Amino acid sequence: MDIEFLKPSDRLRVMDLVESTGIDVSDWANFKGGVEKAASNPKYCYEWSYEDHSKQVIVLNLWYENLSVQDGEIVQKLNLRDIAKNAASSPQSRRATKMDFSLQKAARLNWLVRVIICDGGRRDSNATKSSADRRLLDGEKWYVKSYTDSGDCVLVRGEPTELFIDQFSIEGVPAGEAKKRESMTSVYERSPQVRSYILKRSGGFCEWCGQEGFKTLSGSVYLETHHIQPLSDNGSDTVDNVVALCPNHHREAHFGESAVQFRKELAERVEKLNKSIQPTNNASAD
Ligand SMILES: [Zn+2]
Ligand SMILES: [Zn+2]
Repeated sequence: MDIEFLKPSDRLRVMDLVESTGIDVSDWANFKGGVEKAASNPKYCYEWSYEDHSKQVIVLNLWYENLSVQDGEIVQKLNLRDIAKNAASSPQSRRATKMDFSLQKAARLNWLVRVIICDGGRRDSNATKSSADRRLLDGEKWYVKSYTDSGDCVLVRGEPTELFIDQFSIEGVPAGEAKKRESMTSVYERSPQVRSYILKRSGGFCEWCGQEGFKTLSGSVYLETHHIQPLSDNGSDTVDNVVALCPNHHREAHFGESAVQFRKELAERVEKLNKSIQPTNNASAD
């Protein structure tokens, strides 16, 4: 696969590229240089990554020379924690750490990833500063394919195939089943964003027993999303009220002899889980 088409040829400004992703750049003008010099505001223009919490988007600067092709996909492998540790200067270290946090949000919370590809400039490992002189904003979305405990990250260009699915994502069920499923669920709207958030939160593991969901034929991991306080009982369709369970525990939540106690404990569990992923636990549920 040829990646030449991603080689930047124009001298574009970071601020303009960031702005065209929809991120608000009005604060760039908020320094002594004013609007005229906004694009060279040192608080922003040397950063490696940008993010917008309300839009749940991150923008990453990636070097063209570090792109590679793997299994037919354009990827970039990086470990920002290592870079932060070995950085030549503390601003570099801070920028790397910031980018690492952004990558974690993309990995765990499914934030949209946009990429500015940089080229040119002068870069060697001892330089305190490296600056690109050519850039382009990739029109394609990227996503974090994997992010390990030690910070090894694989970014992939394109859209992910679904990693996790639940009972509402299953296709090709026998007609009779589908009908029954429809009549069971059609009364209450379930937000796909909430389900997707919960599955992502679970990482593919039952949020009650910790057992990993099974792999389906499509390669996705299967768990079931469950409303702790039922929708039919005025329960809300929000991330505070939905949990990912293995099929066994899902049935138990509904039909187990201690369903009432189970419900209470599930609510506590979910509260803890949401707290543990602060500051983004207020991620939109609707
Ligand atoms: Zn379970
Ligand atoms: Zn349920």
